[in-house]
Amino acid sequence: MESWERNLSGRITTLRELENRIELFKEEREFFRLSDAKDFPFSVTDHYFSLIKKEDPSDPVRLQCIPSVRELDVKPYEVNDPLCDSENMPGTGIIHRYRDRILVLASGICAVYCRHCFRRYLPGNRDHRLQEETLEQVATYLKKNALVEEVILSGGDPLLLPDSFLGQIMEALKRSKSGLTFRIGTRVPVVLPERITDELAALLRKFIPLYIITQFNHPNEISKESIHAINKLADTGIVLLNQAVLLRGINDDARILYTLFRMLARLRVRPYYLFQGDLACGTSHFRVNLEQGLRLFRAFDHHVSGLARPVYAVDLPGGGGKINLGDRVIREKRDGWYLIEGNDGKIYRYPVE
Ligand SMILES: *Cc1c(COP(=O)(O)O)cnc(C)c1O
Ligand code: SF4
Repeated sequence: MESWERNLSGRITTLRELENRIELFKEEREFFRLSDAKDFPFSVTDHYFSLIKKEDPSDPVRLQCIPSVRELDVKPYEVNDPLCDSENMPGTGIIHRYRDRILVLASGICAVYCRHCFRRYLPGNRDHRLQEETLEQVATYLKKNALVEEVILSGGDPLLLPDSFLGQIMEALKRSKSGLTFRIGTRVPVVLPERITDELAALLRKFIPLYIITQFNHPNEISKESIHAINKLADTGIVLLNQAVLLRGINDDARILYTLFRMLARLRVRPYYLFQGDLACGTSHFRVNLEQGLRLFRAFDHHVSGLARPVYAVDLPGGGGKINLGDRVIREKRDGWYLIEGNDGKIYRYPVE
């Protein structure tokens, strides 16, 4: 077993282990008393846990990984699958919503279950680990669909797969279409940086053009271990991008976002998206009011270099896809909803909250 695998299997997954290491607040204890952990698992790696400043009740790392009873407050418009992934699944493990790229659910687990996760119905479900038969189907799908030029490996976290299986997946996909562009969505550089071994970097190098999209949401998550992992990937020629999620009480502050994006740009991780929260069950305490989000974004939008400026976007509830909120797409505010024009010209609703 490699050391990252030992660290992964030794991560904190129970209330007892957590209580041995940190004094919990009432809202956190309440969650464990009342929740049915089957819904969405809990786990934190040693590395991510070490970034928590224990004396700060609103520590940005703590809020992202230690559950609160507020997760059990499910709003009427919150759903399991807010992006309607299930309506865009032409086969097991494939989400095909945009013409030239498909998303493949490669892994069913994450190292840390982010409390704000919007694909909460996926992670923690081992059934979502790509099976070998499914891999053949994905390869066939790629061969048949001439318009698909890019595969996004997602999940769960694809970099939690063993090197050998990850390599097998990417080989099979690469063989099925020449000139394929790869993308991997992973939070490993943030939560389990020791996973980025020299062997993994050497393996991934074979699949360039490869883009790795990570998720740093706060400057406190940029540790020296993360920087080491990022440098290793960037030095092999992999392009790194970041998708941050706008999170209430964590990074809904223009100065924090500015600092985060500037730090990432300096580390060769280009800020790509800043996401408005999706309407996943039990995540309302993380969402920022949409107009407030726009004000925040505009507060630094003009001042920050294009290299450090992400697109502020929302994935429209009801399957409308991603749209750029900077394009002034809000048409109207009515009866507690913003009416937003999608790329397809249809009107979608997002709650005012
Ligand atoms: C987000 C997403 C993509 C990627 O969209 P980009 O705008 O290219 O980053 C692709 N497929 C699905 C299903 C997605 O949810
Ligand atoms: S790493 Fe991604 S998929 Fe996994 S819990 Fe976090 S946000 Fe969800």
